[in-house]
Amino acid sequence: MVQRTSLPKRGQKVAVIGSGISGLGATWLLSPHFEVTLFEATGRIGGHALTVSVNRNDMEIPVDIGFIVFNKVNYPNLTKLFDLLEVPIQKSNMSFAVTVNEGEFEYGSGNIGAFFSYPTNLLKPAFWELFLDIFTFCKTAVKDTASDPNMSVEELIRRRNFGKWFEKYYLLPMSGAIWSTPRSEMLKFPANLLVKFFEHHGLLSLTGQYQWWTVSGGSKNYVQKLMAQIKANIRLNAPVEAVQRSSEGISVKTKGQEVETFDHIIFACHSNTTLEILKDSNSEEHSILSSIPYRSNRIILHQDASLMPKRKACWSSWVYLANTKGDEEQASVTYWMNSLQAIPMKTPLFATLNPNKTIPEESIFVEHIFEHPQYDYRAVQAHENLPKIQGQANTWFCGAWAGMGFHEDGFLSAIKVARMMGVNPPWN
Ligand SMILES: Cc1cc2nc3c(=O)[nH]c(=O)nc-3n(C[C@H](O)[C@H](O)[C@H](O)COP(=O)(O)OP(=O)(O)OC[C@H]3O[C@@H](n4cnc5c(N)ncnc54)[C@H](O)[C@@H]3O)c2cc1C
Repeated sequence: MVQRTSLPKRGQKVAVIGSGISGLGATWLLSPHFEVTLFEATGRIGGHALTVSVNRNDMEIPVDIGFIVFNKVNYPNLTKLFDLLEVPIQKSNMSFAVTVNEGEFEYGSGNIGAFFSYPTNLLKPAFWELFLDIFTFCKTAVKDTASDPNMSVEELIRRRNFGKWFEKYYLLPMSGAIWSTPRSEMLKFPANLLVKFFEHHGLLSLTGQYQWWTVSGGSKNYVQKLMAQIKANIRLNAPVEAVQRSSEGISVKTKGQEVETFDHIIFACHSNTTLEILKDSNSEEHSILSSIPYRSNRIILHQDASLMPKRKACWSSWVYLANTKGDEEQASVTYWMNSLQAIPMKTPLFATLNPNKTIPEESIFVEHIFEHPQYDYRAVQAHENLPKIQGQANTWFCGAWAGMGFHEDGFLSAIKVARMMGVNPPWN
């Protein structure tokens, strides 16, 4: 089949699939220069930027259950966007805790008291070994992974002979919480990617961390401000079912609608969805898109404090709920929303990803399913090869999966596509 590859020309028709930060970012950048149609499967713009409203004592409390936090060092483009749009932001509090088997063992990173909150730990050699291993990891991980970019997290752990507590109670829970990935899958994660992420986010520093921020009033506020600047054809409840390329152009079939033709297509949905709807993907596209699968995770916003550490001293913004007695098929993490979004403590609010116990109905406000990208050694290759397929047959790919899975990654991937199409963001 003949597929047309041509340089983008101003005024051409561009279809964008997906309205998360990646699709919204691409639409915002390109719509002043092209005739853009944004297709969104659901009835809501924003994708993982999802703010829900909790009604308590006649007060509406906005709570983010998808994208919650960012920092100004690792999110330079998002920060510039928020500055430009005058999005109100406020300080967030980032701290991390692990609670094992509902409190058999736990620690928090918020302060020294939280780390040593479990006095009998001090009598256990494994606890002091954990301390030493964390120190060694912070000092050696960059060098270890630089010498072998294909090493997995498991290989990194074995190479330094790190102890079981380091593996089970520190590295796998912490990274599992970051990537919403169970411990067994984290072992296969590329060590190089993990260590780079830890390094860039100040997690290898033994002294201090970056300041984290959250959008005041919820991420819906930035989505609204972005939408106010976009002049595009917005199509809600329009799940794209099939995309096909030919010499005539790119045909897009949306559920229940006639086929429409475009000059360029930008996939801003997840890699697995892209593969599903791109009906004539070639072997290179197939190989890249299938290398980064997604995993479904359930998130519940609730008030059940039993999904927090037993000891209040350990309560932290992110709590990994470890279960060492059975197989952990999914990462279980509680986000303490009061701490993350400065919500008054009189209304305790927790968002738990894949709860490892039943939450009473009366404590639940809302439940949602999200998908997260899963990375192993194939992802490194896929990221390297992605530029090779960009623009082929006038087809472009973006999404948080094109980076490490976070908001800056999604936005940066959209900026890269816009640049390749001849449009720069309004900053350097
Ligand atoms: C619980 C949770 C917490 C998170 N917290 C943070 C955080 O604090 N900080 C951070 O940086 N990142 C966080 N993330 C990561 C987050 O996933 C990314 O930051 C980013 O929002 C993903 O953006 P995206 O554009 O790639 O995908 P999405 O936001 O998922 O957007 C994809 C869009 O495509 C649409 N779509 C799918 N299929 C079709 C179709 N066939 N046709 C049309 N439209 C379609 C979807 O409905 C969706 O709107 C979190 C993720 C989750 C799930």
